[in-house]
Amino acid sequence: MKSNPHLLTQVNQLRTELASVNETNELLTNELNKSSERFVTAMRGANQAVWDWDLDTDEVYYSPLWKSMLGYDDDELDNHLDTWKSLVHSDEQQIILDKAQNYLSGQLGSFEVEMRLRHKNGYFVYIRSIAFSVSKSFDSKPSRLVGYHVDISKHKRAELFNKKHTKILEMIAKGFPTSDIYTEIALMYEGLFVGMRCSMLELEGDTLLHGGAPSLPQEYCDSVHGLKIGPNIGSCGTSTYTGKRVVVENIETDPKWSAIKHVALPHGMRCCWSEPIISSTGKVLGAFGMYYNHPARPTEDESEALTSAAMLTGIVMERDHNQKRIRELAYTDELTGFSSRSCLYANLESLIKRSSSEKSQFSLYYLDLDNFKDINDSLGHDVGDKHLQEVASRIASVGQGAHLLARLGGDEFCIIVKEATNKDTAANIAARYLDIIAKPSDVCGRKFTQTCSIGIASYPEDGADLQSLLKAADTALYTAKDHGKSQYAFYSKVLATEAEYRFKVEQYLREAIEQHTLSLVYQTQHDLDSGKIVGVEALSRWHHPELGQVSPIQFISIAERIGMIKQLTEQVLITACTQLVAWKKQGLPSIRMAINISPIHFLDPDFIPLIKRVIAETGIVASDLELEVTETVVQTHQKNLSVFQELKTLGVSLSIDDFGTGYSSFASLKHLTVDCLKIDKYFIDDLLTDKKTQLLVGSMIEMAHNLGCNVVAEGIEKPEQVNELKKLGCDMAQGYLFSQPTHPEGISTIFNAKMELS
Ligand code: C2E
Ligand code: CA
Ligand code: CA
Repeated sequence: MKSNPHLLTQVNQLRTELASVNETNELLTNELNKSSERFVTAMRGANQAVWDWDLDTDEVYYSPLWKSMLGYDDDELDNHLDTWKSLVHSDEQQIILDKAQNYLSGQLGSFEVEMRLRHKNGYFVYIRSIAFSVSKSFDSKPSRLVGYHVDISKHKRAELFNKKHTKILEMIAKGFPTSDIYTEIALMYEGLFVGMRCSMLELEGDTLLHGGAPSLPQEYCDSVHGLKIGPNIGSCGTSTYTGKRVVVENIETDPKWSAIKHVALPHGMRCCWSEPIISSTGKVLGAFGMYYNHPARPTEDESEALTSAAMLTGIVMERDHNQKRIRELAYTDELTGFSSRSCLYANLESLIKRSSSEKSQFSLYYLDLDNFKDINDSLGHDVGDKHLQEVASRIASVGQGAHLLARLGGDEFCIIVKEATNKDTAANIAARYLDIIAKPSDVCGRKFTQTCSIGIASYPEDGADLQSLLKAADTALYTAKDHGKSQYAFYSKVLATEAEYRFKVEQYLREAIEQHTLSLVYQTQHDLDSGKIVGVEALSRWHHPELGQVSPIQFISIAERIGMIKQLTEQVLITACTQLVAWKKQGLPSIRMAINISPIHFLDPDFIPLIKRVIAETGIVASDLELEVTETVVQTHQKNLSVFQELKTLGVSLSIDDFGTGYSSFASLKHLTVDCLKIDKYFIDDLLTDKKTQLLVGSMIEMAHNLGCNVVAEGIEKPEQVNELKKLGCDMAQGYLFSQPTHPEGISTIFNAKMELS
């Protein structure tokens, strides 16, 4: 084959070109090596914290500054990647190695990371590391990673400080527990200054109490807790005493620490600066202390930090003080020092939880003073308060396993007794309370006997939760009151049903009175000589759709108990007087209107004004209005006499109702001018069969006449009774024999019939 000279030339040409390229390549590579070498040399030479990692061998060159940044001498660290691995924060090691890998493989355009490296003294230094890869040739992969470190700790700590500060303010605003906030504050300042340890102490009286110090040893905190402050008691004892900052540069030599340095030195503390914590009103609340393990005075930064730390802690402390005060106020009854209602509830709630898991029992006593209102009303609230304090101290003196004493307000007390596990013990304890309270006491120089009623409920049988247990005790108390007061009663299911019914009736009656759905019937009163109607008595009627007809004997006393009697009486007065005026207008003969007045009204200052108003509004002639009151009113209160007097002045007639059934005697009548006595049906019933009753009724009539009163006999059902009463000289009579209590139209009919007859 003949060679082609042209092709050969071409090949040769190519060979030369290739050689030339190789030469250039080699040249370039050499250049590159030289330049990276120069770069590395430059970097190493510059007084920088440089590192230079050989990726093939994991040998790493760390510059002296790199090492000293972490507190090490040049010969103290090995030139190997493991050195870095042992120093970097474990959370960050893998992340950084991955980043380096991504950079070297070209996935990342640059390498810049932040990391924490442990200082020789144990704390972390925040570092920013920037690096470049270095390759041996253009086409070869990088063989080294060369970089340098910048210490960004100060900036990082300030940033962290700000974040923490915000977090602490949030904790304060959200009402986190004080001890948690103290811990965060201490850690925040400790994070700002390497090696610093902080403590917060609270001042109570003249004593320091541990507040928070998460980095100080427990043993040290314990020995400071309870320290009495003074002019030379360490740093915090002195600063709280003087109200001024105390800087102790060296605990070992400062005389202020001589008495207590033995508790600090073993734990390494060498200096302590303390700033008093002052409240917004200027009161010293405690102290903020900063410690180092070497003697030092604060730098400007540290000094400012101490001021701000004390201020921030002050906010927390003051908030805590206020909260404690509020809690105290809410949890104690100021008058007696007993627990308050809310405290009782909180206590009961946790006691129920505990008793439920321990399967244990306890009793709840509801104690209510009998007729305490009388003292308050007649002697004033100051005397009433003193009296309540006396009662409270007597209750407290019983002791006997009383787990908690509470005043629920007014004259109501509540006692939790853990020992009352059986009925006998519970009853004995109740009896002790009754006895001790009933011992005569001195109220405003007068001997006074206070009785009380007690309701007892037991956990768990009477109520397994707070609400039902309280309700049970309340129901039992109601029973004790209902059975005549001055006694105790245990809760029982039957009583509860009764109480529920009673509650329902009370509710219905309240509505009925408010909505004016009660009505009046009238019963005629007759002159015994002429048989003529001389008056009517107004009697209240209540018909309820569910309860049916309820007797006034029942609902009047309920109205009295629930405080609705005033409204009821007012309605009766207005309706009855208006009715009488209307009858008169219809042409009916002039008669009297008798209205029943509950004794309660005689204690009511609004009563006389009410009567005046009724007379004015209805236009009734005062003497046509007759008020029927029971004997008890005549007896008990001196004050009633003046009410009687005022009524008389108004011209209103007065009659004593149910005469002979109460304790009243004629003697009590001598002070009063009464127009009429009503002899109770109780006597009339026996009048025909019992000689003694006849004598009694006879003398009542005679004496009444001697006192200038008329006599009305009530409950006349038989004509023979009329005859007998006529013989005895009785003036008037009222009863079914003449007429049943009737609605107003019925009365008009009776009148018209009589008029026709006459
Ligand atoms: P009271 O004042 O002794 O009234 C007389 C009671 O005897 C009335 O009973 C009357 O219906 C009844 N009565 C009259 N004649 C006879 C009779 O011949 N035989 C029998 N078996 N009973 C007779 P009522 O209406 O049930 O009233 C009972 C009590 O309720 C009254 O006794 C009175 O104390 C009280 N009351 C009634 N209405 C009022 C009122 O509006 N206000 C006040 N505070 N008490 C009232
Ligand atoms: Ca009456
Ligand atoms: Ca009566």
